[in-house]
Amino acid sequence: MSKKVVVLGAGFGGLELSTMLSEELGDEVAVTVIDRNDGFSFGYSKLDLMFRGTSLDSVTLPYREVAKPGVRLLKEEITAIDARNRSVTTDAGTHEADFLVIALGADYDLAATPGLAEHGNEFYSFKGAERAAGPIADFDSGNAVIGVCGAPFKCPPAPSECALMLSDQLSRRGVRDQCEITFVLPLPSPVPPSPETSTALISEFEARGIRFMSGRRPVKLDAGEVTLDDGSTLPFDLFLGVPKHQAPQVVIESGITEDGYVTVDSATLKTKYEGVYAVGDVATAGVPKAGVFAEGAARVVARELIAELRGGGDAEPFDGRGSCYIEFGEDQIARVDIDFLSGPEKSGVFNAPSLELRDEKDEFGSSRKARWFGL
Ligand SMILES: Cc1cc2nc3c(=O)[nH]c(=O)nc-3n(C[C@H](O)[C@H](O)[C@H](O)COP(=O)(O)OP(=O)(O)OC[C@H]3O[C@@H](n4cnc5c(N)ncnc54)[C@H](O)[C@@H]3O)c2cc1C
Repeated sequence: MSKKVVVLGAGFGGLELSTMLSEELGDEVAVTVIDRNDGFSFGYSKLDLMFRGTSLDSVTLPYREVAKPGVRLLKEEITAIDARNRSVTTDAGTHEADFLVIALGADYDLAATPGLAEHGNEFYSFKGAERAAGPIADFDSGNAVIGVCGAPFKCPPAPSECALMLSDQLSRRGVRDQCEITFVLPLPSPVPPSPETSTALISEFEARGIRFMSGRRPVKLDAGEVTLDDGSTLPFDLFLGVPKHQAPQVVIESGITEDGYVTVDSATLKTKYEGVYAVGDVATAGVPKAGVFAEGAARVVARELIAELRGGGDAEPFDGRGSCYIEFGEDQIARVDIDFLSGPEKSGVFNAPSLELRDEKDEFGSSRKARWFGL
């Protein structure tokens, strides 16, 4: 009987893990990947939906295209996780695992910021980003506020990208002079592990007249007014918000979170439950919440499982390294190379914006599309 690996979630982490297991072990292992959705989209596509008129359909890669030896992908809603017994309940039944990998990402808690759902536009879900495109296109005078309602949040540079892309769109439409843009961020700088990246972003904000308020967080929205955590208020005609993040409800209700997320050993991604791993945004691995880190963590788990199933030695520990591409407006892309775990200090090396880096970002997407979906 082949060993059974059950992977919860077919995002960055789940797709990379199942691909590596299939490449290395093929039918020697039975990999079941469970996701509620019909397809996967890259997180950065949300900015394309908002600012480039892209449709969600055109950036969705359908799971039905995944055809890999040893892997089956099931469309089911996960309703309970029994980590101690490596058993998972879904709306279609139960799945028992020899190895269980939780890769369910991070979810949003809109209610944590009263009024956000009624008066603002969250742009961190695909539906929210799609919906925000209309109000963004209609906005031609007054105050726009981009507000991050809690940390940690996915892809730390994304709200800065949003501010720059909004400014550029307003300039293209010839209405920039009639609009104010304020960007409110609870962090001390746009990308704290990379001072160089933060400086470059802040100088782009200054060049475009974007007001940047660091160390501040929206706590409440009323019609046309947002209250910050220091009690001050800002008027707005357009509010683009990043909701407070949390682990998916099913993970919280299954009692496997500590301080909001699933605790793992950063080097091995093992949880405290025998044979249970967690990768990506759902875990506290000491790295930012971004796809590249979910993917890197998944590779470590894949190597561990391959070693375990083949009787090999220990796998290399997770190095917490990954590169994030940053839209700097006017089609220019920068890259920050993050290293959180391999050295004594966290570091982030900045690569200045260029058109060549746009090609590199496109290649990042198309290589995953080919590797995970055969497209
Ligand atoms: C605007 C924006 C821009 C971004 N840009 C970048 C970028 O440029 N580079 C980068 O690396 N990252 C970027 N990210 C972050 C990136 O999208 C996430 O960090 C990444 O997707 C996390 O991968 P994951 O595997 O942990 O989870 P996810 O990719 O979120 O996958 C989790 C999966 O679990 C499934 N799931 C959840 N709950 C259930 C359930 N109960 N039952 C069944 N299935 C369930 C979901 O459907 C989902 O498919 C961006 C994010 C945003 C919002």
